[in-house]
Amino acid sequence: MANPNLNAELREHSFEQSLRPLRLNEFIGQQKIIDNLSVFIKAARMRSESLDHVLLSGPPGLGKTTLATVIANEMGVSMRPTIGPVLEKPGDLAGLLTNLEEGDVLFIDEIHRLNPIVEEYLYSAMEDFKIDIVIDSGPNARSVQIELKRFTLVGATTRKGLLTAPLRARFGIDLRLDYYDTELLQLIARRTASILNIGLSDKGSFEIARRSRGTPRIVNRLVRRTRDFAEVEGTGEITDILADRALNALDVDSNGLDDMDIRILNVLTELYKGKPVGLGTLAVAVNEEKGTIEEVYEPFLIQEGFLQRTPKGRVATQKAFEYLGVKRDAPGDL
Ligand code: ADP
Repeated sequence: MANPNLNAELREHSFEQSLRPLRLNEFIGQQKIIDNLSVFIKAARMRSESLDHVLLSGPPGLGKTTLATVIANEMGVSMRPTIGPVLEKPGDLAGLLTNLEEGDVLFIDEIHRLNPIVEEYLYSAMEDFKIDIVIDSGPNARSVQIELKRFTLVGATTRKGLLTAPLRARFGIDLRLDYYDTELLQLIARRTASILNIGLSDKGSFEIARRSRGTPRIVNRLVRRTRDFAEVEGTGEITDILADRALNALDVDSNGLDDMDIRILNVLTELYKGKPVGLGTLAVAVNEEKGTIEEVYEPFLIQEGFLQRTPKGRVATQKAFEYLGVKRDAPGDL
């Protein structure tokens, strides 16, 4: 039987693909990154060279995959995408590398999750465009060096801190994407609405933008979901009132915090009463993976001033107590 989750994921993926900006001038926001990249790309093209290796870091949904595609398009080359943990053996990497054409972009998402042995092989590929592979086994085993075409590695990571120093050092261009402000998210919402062919009022785009956790992927998802509400209710336009109703129905609160954000803050405020909580304990309490809490939820909660990481663990801030309306015990009661 078809897996409904898989089908939903595939639909989501092709929806994302259809909204992806393809060129630098279509990419909204991250102005400094775009300005720098356009200089590096122009210079590489003028010298007829491949672009230096690029490391993109930042929380999920901010445009790392999109930028990798944009880089390949601007350089006029193909992009070969893969994901760190999929490359299990050096042979998997060698297969990919030897199939690249001159100047191609190899995009490795979640590069912090590369197998260390595969990573070692990547070093010489990145630096000297050569790779040593062992053929045969036992007494006949010998190492053969293969020359590679010059390529650009674009690595993406949500956890730059987990990258080893030797790998990090091999990227000539190191770019960090930040959360988007509401104005930029409004532009992204408008662009998406026009591609989806749905009306979106100014106030409607503001309502969606400010509740999207600073993240284009969430803007796109919310535009699509609110479009469903607009169409069913027959207005054909997403207004602020309709967006508010739709987002409440989707459990996105007025600050963009979703169900999991609220659960995390509830654990820290109500259950632990503002005391530090270890990541493992928090993960069990909200029934979510540690990595997802660290990469997806915490960065936004920290940026918005609801949560702090301390050496003893995660703690809720005063703002979180006020936001949830939880009364804080006097310090003596702790
Ligand atoms: P990441 O790789 O960082 O997780 P993606 O590149 O997959 O993020 O972006 C997620 C979605 O958000 C894509 O569908 C893309 O169309 C959209 N998006 C991301 N950044 C932008 C941007 N700056 N302008 C317009 N759309 C964007």
